[in-house]
Amino acid sequence: MKRVFNFNPGPATLPLEVLEEAQKELTNYKDTGMSVMEISHRSKEFEEIIEQAETSMKELLGIPDNYRVLFLQGGASTQFFMIPMNYLREGETADYILTGSFAEKAYKEAVKIGKVNVAGTTKESNFNHIPSPDELNFSPSPSYIHITSNNTIFGTQWKDYSIFGDFPLAADMSSDILCGPLDVSRFALIYAGAQKNLGPSGVTVVIIREDMLEKVPAELPSMLKYNIHAENNSLYNTPPSFSVYMVNLILQWVKKEGGLEKMKEKNEKKSSLLYEAIDQSDGFYKGHAVKESRSIMNVTFRLPDEEKEKKFISEATSRGLVGLKGHRSVGGIRASIYNAMPLEGCEKLADFMEEFKK
Ligand SMILES: *Cc1c(COP(=O)(O)O)cnc(C)c1O
Repeated sequence: MKRVFNFNPGPATLPLEVLEEAQKELTNYKDTGMSVMEISHRSKEFEEIIEQAETSMKELLGIPDNYRVLFLQGGASTQFFMIPMNYLREGETADYILTGSFAEKAYKEAVKIGKVNVAGTTKESNFNHIPSPDELNFSPSPSYIHITSNNTIFGTQWKDYSIFGDFPLAADMSSDILCGPLDVSRFALIYAGAQKNLGPSGVTVVIIREDMLEKVPAELPSMLKYNIHAENNSLYNTPPSFSVYMVNLILQWVKKEGGLEKMKEKNEKKSSLLYEAIDQSDGFYKGHAVKESRSIMNVTFRLPDEEKEKKFISEATSRGLVGLKGHRSVGGIRASIYNAMPLEGCEKLADFMEEFKK
């Protein structure tokens, strides 16, 4: 059997043991004689899965009791407009901080719905850093502040959420949810498409504080109302049941691996192997993100010219290190090293970087 080290940004690598577990019970889930894909979302078996997923998410992140965990559809991109539709009313202003392409996409959707203030942007430096507090200008009383915790394309990550005060904070955590411990109580709403750090595509996890459920406008279509999904335990309509099942297996895997402290330790170790390879290359590799903003999930760097970048990618691929091509807006190389990327993958890549340079 051939498995490569998969550095793709998303859909991304999943733990082999999780895939094997899914394979083992694919045709006969818990003696039902049916696949998870074939059972009713109203069955006791599926209700157990979705309840366990919610409980496990709460357990892992230490989510306070006044929050709900929802499993929705439409990807993180649907949250880009669902958040303003629910929380940006006539006469209100929402603050957006633009730290990358996905932040800009979220902003563009919000502008269609209501008044938005760009509280800060790092576009002039091609999003190579997270803005410092003195680069930010908040409106006097924003209905919410929107941030992107990890900028998948540029390889930057917020490290400090203490600067936002008490205004409702909404965060797109698609590419770093569960990368380490998090103080969820700082956020009113967190969302994440599953296909980076949580499982396969098809499901979006939303962690929402209960008071936000009460602010949902009555006139919205049901599928766009957070409170409807919460009241129905994410079973208002047919959920992406197989994706929810896979997310649940991933959550059990994270627990078994030792939880979020362990994830953080491992992710820091993995990313520092690659950052060291960059920093010790005498300028052969140039990191895109400034040091203080470096992501532990997506490592981005350039080589001296595009010719060498092409060669790097093709030689890496031939050694089973795949998915390393950077996004066109940064160019060069991007190594996405989510929770499921083993340490060995980063060791192999760091060794290859050293050798390629020589
Ligand atoms: C991948 C990604 C998205 C897009 O997610 P979809 O589920 O494809 O809509 C949004 N935000 C961030 C930070 C991402 O990494």
